Amino acid sequence: MRNIDSQYDCVVMGAGPAGSTVATLVAEAGFSTLLVERESMPRPHVGESLMPETYWQFERLGVLDKLKASVFAKKVGVQFVNNTGKESAPFLFRTHDDRESSETWHVDRAQFDKMLFDNAATKGASCWDKTRVLEAKFTTTDAGGSRAKGVLLQHAGNPAQEVSARVVVDATGQQALVANRLGLRRENPSLRKAAIWRHYRGAHRDESGGGVKTVIMHTAEKQSWFWYIPQADDTVSVGVVGDRDYLLKDRGTPDDTFDEELGKCPTLSCWLHNSEAVGDFKVAKEFSYTTDKSAGDGWVLVGDAWGFIDPVYSSGVYFALKSGVLAADCIIDGLNNNDVSADTLGRWIPDFTRQTSLIRKLVHAFYSGEFRVGKFIQEYPQHQSELVDLLIGRVFDGREGKIFDDLEPWLEAKLSKA
Ligand SMILES: Cc1cc2nc3c(=O)[nH]c(=O)nc-3n(C[C@H](O)[C@H](O)[C@H](O)COP(=O)(O)OP(=O)(O)OC[C@H]3O[C@@H](n4cnc5c(N)ncnc54)[C@H](O)[C@@H]3O)c2cc1C
Repeated sequence: MRNIDSQYDCVVMGAGPAGSTVATLVAEAGFSTLLVERESMPRPHVGESLMPETYWQFERLGVLDKLKASVFAKKVGVQFVNNTGKESAPFLFRTHDDRESSETWHVDRAQFDKMLFDNAATKGASCWDKTRVLEAKFTTTDAGGSRAKGVLLQHAGNPAQEVSARVVVDATGQQALVANRLGLRRENPSLRKAAIWRHYRGAHRDESGGGVKTVIMHTAEKQSWFWYIPQADDTVSVGVVGDRDYLLKDRGTPDDTFDEELGKCPTLSCWLHNSEAVGDFKVAKEFSYTTDKSAGDGWVLVGDAWGFIDPVYSSGVYFALKSGVLAADCIIDGLNNNDVSADTLGRWIPDFTRQTSLIRKLVHAFYSGEFRVGKFIQEYPQHQSELVDLLIGRVFDGREGKIFDDLEPWLEAKLSKA
């Protein structure tokens, strides 16, 4: 019978895309690695639209062929519908850059995350679901500092067990176990959002361009927006996002609120006409946040545990995978050189924070209420290419975000007139 050992080189808490990525790569490098997940896998999760730049992480993890052979719907672009119902021309990724890596998928997260979890096991990680981390353990160093030393965990109702590790990775998503315990989480008060979503079957489906598109649709008064993510099996994921108080305070049930917002989005109402609802509504509060410190001696944060960026551009899974790869390389280096200090484990973080801030800026532009993508591109066609690059997820190529030199003043001018 398998057992969880009492000691590993690396313990990874949480088996979303970030955790499974770290565990896969660290185990593949030959280090003993434990990956624990509190839920039973496969488990459902929100976040179904990927960015094309995930391609390179899938290649590194060795799952590209599995994805190509999967039933997941092929995503070929992004489209925006403004508050008057006007549809932007779709941003088709292969029209911009005709390579296989410019396309991606709309995934079922239960299946997708399970595939990554199983891949970690195949590459040598010891993978346990139904195993909750109760606490990350720290010890005081000779110099008076603090160093992670392991975790206290519990598998499927068995007695709690202490496991020691040279490196502890927090990949617990929005639970952000370590950041919460150390008081490192900083919420962005202007992005306190909530989301209500469900799936439908038999709704409008547009496969022109060789696949489906993620569609982002504003409601009439721009107080909320919908995502429209066509999936395999003729289903579509539809969710509404708005300020938390606007969506959840002094309103009816989530079902009522969803229907009221749908009434403010005639294009979507039309697309859902004659479709059949699948399953119940789900609700999430999703606050954008950063962490003051993302690595310490013996510990590092990845994915949503590192920080959460509003989902409007579907960047979450990509940043989870990318941070997982970058952190794994630093962990492997640290374990090889017997140096798991904060400096080594967190070496990737300053660049990652700077480059992902381009998507944060694009999120702020979206919520300014004046960012009409089609209109901006009409006035500044020279930025079309960079905008599509950002929608693809190309932020880690040292780019500085030239688009914002014009976009930000353009928005300010619009806001001052509004
Ligand atoms: C409304 C909404 C819509 C979104 N839409 C998109 C989208 O379309 N595209 C996209 O790319 N992203 C989207 N996201 C973001 C995406 O869901 C996340 O960014 C992504 O899942 C982060 O991956 P992760 O591995 O960091 O965390 P997660 O996927 O959340 O995984 C963390 C795991 O840790 C486990 N865990 C937590 N605590 C413990 C514990 N104590 N012990 C053991 N295990 C634990 C959890 O059960 C979970 O399985 C959306 C998010 C929201 C809120």
